Amino acid sequence: SANTAYEALSVDTLTQRLKDVPALIEHVGSDASEWHVQEVGDGNLNLVFIVSGSVGKIIVKQALPYVRLVGDSWPLPLYRAFYEYHALTRQAARDPGAVPEVYHFNETQALIVMEFLAPHVILRRKLIAGEKVAGLADFLGQFCARTAFRGSELSMPSPDKKADVALFAGNVEIPAITEALVFTDPYFDAEMNNHTEGLAPVIAQLRGDAALKIKVQQMLQRFVSNTETMVHGDLHSGSIMSTDSDSRVIDPEFVQYGPMGFDIGMLCANFLMAYFSQPAHRGADLSEYQEWILEVIADTARSFEAEFRHLWATERTGILYPASLFEDQGQDSAAACDAVLAGIWRDAWAVCGIEMHRRCLSLAHNADFEEIADVAMRARLEARNLSMGAELIHMADTIADAQAVCALARNFN
Ligand code: ADP
Ligand code: MG
Ligand code: MG
Ligand code: MG
Repeated sequence: SANTAYEALSVDTLTQRLKDVPALIEHVGSDASEWHVQEVGDGNLNLVFIVSGSVGKIIVKQALPYVRLVGDSWPLPLYRAFYEYHALTRQAARDPGAVPEVYHFNETQALIVMEFLAPHVILRRKLIAGEKVAGLADFLGQFCARTAFRGSELSMPSPDKKADVALFAGNVEIPAITEALVFTDPYFDAEMNNHTEGLAPVIAQLRGDAALKIKVQQMLQRFVSNTETMVHGDLHSGSIMSTDSDSRVIDPEFVQYGPMGFDIGMLCANFLMAYFSQPAHRGADLSEYQEWILEVIADTARSFEAEFRHLWATERTGILYPASLFEDQGQDSAAACDAVLAGIWRDAWAVCGIEMHRRCLSLAHNADFEEIADVAMRARLEARNLSMGAELIHMADTIADAQAVCALARNFN
């Protein structure tokens, strides 16, 4: 049963092992003989099952003790399910409705039972297929702003914030993956790297650019030491599920306390990679769809800023920038909010450029580029993406706004 030692579930054993769990009886149905179990995991790390019955469907996600993408030669602690569970509860509190509802958690089995999202599909699939999602930018901008603001000392009581930082600091190996795969491996000949044939010249350029590597290391230092807020940590288009008008965020197992600009930076990178990959996926609608992607980036940034300023005005209850220093003395704090936002964007554009590099150069590429069968074309499109990533890293401090990033993307396209 659920309280015995950890054992990976399978399609054949799941019903027998979970048939007495109240959350499944409630959401799937009490007659377990009618349950249907399907494995749907398409991620790099975990087992994911859909369980259906007379009442409905649920998702069962279970961590494996190794990296699924690589195999049992790369062990990974089961405790990441504990952090994913706690991340989901915090995200649900900070942005209600943004993440699937959790029905049940079993720490020993590293298992989370949650709401089945339907007819949502992974946003990356929609971006590759050229489908638009209404309300996407507002949803994502608000999610990033609410989780950033409400997980920081701008809003949280300091003792709660410190306790939460301590809790999540136990998640060691998962951030280590980001520290290596995202921030480090792209910039040297790391063992697990792989890249499309034909990229050698642009890779040599990146690795020969010591100033660039300094900027990336400075960002890594902020990533590991600035516990500004609880970040999702893996907010790419494969961690977002959408219908044509509704979106949710899933899979926060890379959660940690980190810079407020981290999630929105990684998110923008994934939209830019969708943008650069489009010539391989579209026909006559190419430029129209590419412009829609850029609009999503600009509107996400706008929505982020609007929500952040709203929270600044209405929920600034933490130790940072207290009203006693500004409003209570008859002073506006708008300039202080501008300065905080400028710091967020500096980090966001640096992370954005770095994410654009790692998805083409280290382990774990994305389908946007990976599914381009024509290798020469893939190399050409990835090279544009890599060059723009370098530009973003160099210019992160001085970029005016997301519109300027969109203009830059058009130049590299
Ligand atoms: P991993 O951590 O291994 O990447 P994910 O949490 O991303 O696992 O889940 C893998 C896949 O399972 C997703 O890409 C999605 O297709 C499906 N999935 C995960 N959670 C849900 C959910 N709540 N509702 C519907 N499908 C889901
Ligand atoms: Mg995933
Ligand atoms: Mg590749
Ligand atoms: Mg994951």
